[in-house]
Amino acid sequence: MAPRLVKLAGMMLGAGAVGALLYAERARPLRRQVRKAAPRIARNVAMGAACQAAIAAAEVPLTGRIAARNAARKRGLSGLFGGGVVGGGVAFLAMDYGFYLWHVATHKVPFLWRFHRVHHVDPDMDASTALRFHFVDMFVSLPWRLVQVRASGIGPRGLAVWRRFFLLSVLFHHANLRLPRGFDEALSKHITTPRMHGIHHSQIPCEMDSNWSSGIAWWDHLHATFRSDVPADKITIGVDDPLAERDTHLLPALKAPFAARPAMRALP
Ligand SMILES: [Zn+2]
Repeated sequence: MAPRLVKLAGMMLGAGAVGALLYAERARPLRRQVRKAAPRIARNVAMGAACQAAIAAAEVPLTGRIAARNAARKRGLSGLFGGGVVGGGVAFLAMDYGFYLWHVATHKVPFLWRFHRVHHVDPDMDASTALRFHFVDMFVSLPWRLVQVRASGIGPRGLAVWRRFFLLSVLFHHANLRLPRGFDEALSKHITTPRMHGIHHSQIPCEMDSNWSSGIAWWDHLHATFRSDVPADKITIGVDDPLAERDTHLLPALKAPFAARPAMRALP
């Protein structure tokens, strides 16, 4: 009974956090939205649902199996640190750093950018943008995800914690939420904030080419890819290519990665 109660409490906490985030977005918007919210959010939620189905079908069972073996054999980076709390902490950081590297690759490798562009094409950015990915992207990223889990040595509990952290983090940093400037700045030393990630969603390539972290922000500071010098109201969200407008819509967005010619080149 106790684990069920813990799970229920966790779900309620998660739902409460998402509810608070949606309320806060309306109370303190960071950017002026340029499109009608309802159809855009409906599209993003539909795309997110397809992604969740793909993740549940492939990523969850495969990563779960690897994580169970990690725990049984004390292997990977976690194993090098003897497992336990220290090993689990190292594995958590390794998972997050793996996402930083993957995110850079999705912009720089033309094949991966075809899929990641679908996320960046959204002309406004709010918590629903966090759901806007191509479901095939969930299979394209799967081999790297398996490498992350195997190399980090993360166990089943650590993986469950990391998944929740990651989901809440992506909802949070895509949110159209104006935090007090000093608070946002202090927070962005450690975790990805809405103001920070907004710069990454800029149409200007040299601004997009920054702030790659998706959870812990240390990786941007370590690699000198952190930027905070672009005010939110000076940013045009989206991608600047001739097919961007068409690809904001659901069916064109789903077809776009398979076009004979890419709509826009990946970042150099
Ligand atoms: Zn990106």
